[in-house]
Amino acid sequence: MSEINFKCKKCMMVFNCDLGKISFPPDLERPKFEKEIVCPKCGKLSINQVELTELGQSQLTEIHLSSLK
Ligand SMILES: [Zn+2]
Repeated sequence: MSEINFKCKKCMMVFNCDLGKISFPPDLERPKFEKEIVCPKCGKLSINQVELTELGQSQLTEIHLSSLK
């Protein structure tokens, strides 16, 4: 499982979300998540409704790098 730190654009809450398997399809700009992003307050969110925090960015980068090995 992969926990990524997000900020909800609706309620501005920062939360960790388990996204399951994360893949990085070369033809897509965005990584693909196995699970949906769920804000503890607002429920399911699309990627456009959340912001990656700095921590989230580095978590994602780390997962990306280890997926290239
Ligand atoms: Zn929210």
